[in-house]
Amino acid sequence: MKKTTTALLVCATAATAIASSAFAEGELNLYSSRHYDTDERLYSDFTDLTGITINRIEANADELIARMQAEGANSPADILMTVDTSRLERAKSAGVLQSIDSDVLETRIPAYLQDADNQWFGFSQRARIIFYDKTEVTNPPMDYVSLADPAYEGMICHRSSTNVYSQTLLSAVIENFGTEAATEWAKGFVNNFARDPQGGDTDQLRGLVSGECDIAISNTYYFARALRKDVDGLPADAMANIGWIFPAQNAEGAHMNLSGGGVAANAPNRENAIKFLEYLASDQAQNYFSAGNDEYPAVPGVGLAPSVAAMGLFRPDAVDLSEVAKNVPEAQVIFNQVGWE
Ligand code: FE
Repeated sequence: MKKTTTALLVCATAATAIASSAFAEGELNLYSSRHYDTDERLYSDFTDLTGITINRIEANADELIARMQAEGANSPADILMTVDTSRLERAKSAGVLQSIDSDVLETRIPAYLQDADNQWFGFSQRARIIFYDKTEVTNPPMDYVSLADPAYEGMICHRSSTNVYSQTLLSAVIENFGTEAATEWAKGFVNNFARDPQGGDTDQLRGLVSGECDIAISNTYYFARALRKDVDGLPADAMANIGWIFPAQNAEGAHMNLSGGGVAANAPNRENAIKFLEYLASDQAQNYFSAGNDEYPAVPGVGLAPSVAAMGLFRPDAVDLSEVAKNVPEAQVIFNQVGWE
């Protein structure tokens, strides 16, 4: 919380400075739960292009949504940015977003990456895929279904069920295969865990290096980041022993995890907010999602950073992610049933 306040204060000072300059076009209050330092550049580029200053408040998504609800009509929030469709849907059902009309967003962002009511738009994509230790595993699972196969007993590392990536993954399994099959799947998957669920995605990859895990599930950008630069616990020689599978390429496709945002329900700077979302869909910003944070751009045809290109192209699961997000409560029930901590 302290960091949040500091960021706001620092930006508020910058806002004062810019307000007196000839380029002043107003400001934009951004509530963001994206946790990537590289996003700084995205914001400063926007300010350079438009003269609009960004005041940023960072916290986790649920805190930001609760804050926007508590602030109500007086909320200074113009934009909410977060990761994962489940959270974007949570924001929508909490009533903190509004529908907007933008030809730019309509044409640039593929339909399956947008909310049907234009309350949120996806700006970058990450696939949640299978990584494995090539020195230990000769027959890696080729799809999500196989992760429940007893052949992989005691081999797999994944995060806890309190994490939104776990929630959305199981919600997608429910959407694709039905509740009964998803329950059986979760039972088998948990049975195959190498250890109690713990840590973030990078920790799952570190588990491959330490030998604790033979198979690990992680979003692509954590691995691509370690290809691009030094990440503690993932040295280059060990990275060379990690293989990866884009799952279910002959079936439903790789499970996608979106990062996106929308205009706040009571945005005081609504026009600037729409301008900001349109900027995020520009080639420049789209390229930076890839170059800065190793994500796949949402806009088709935008170039990939070398670290992302190294992972390769794949067929994504085209299931409607806003439908998937509606299964989260059901996923919670299954987590409890199968003892996925
Ligand atoms: Fe993440």
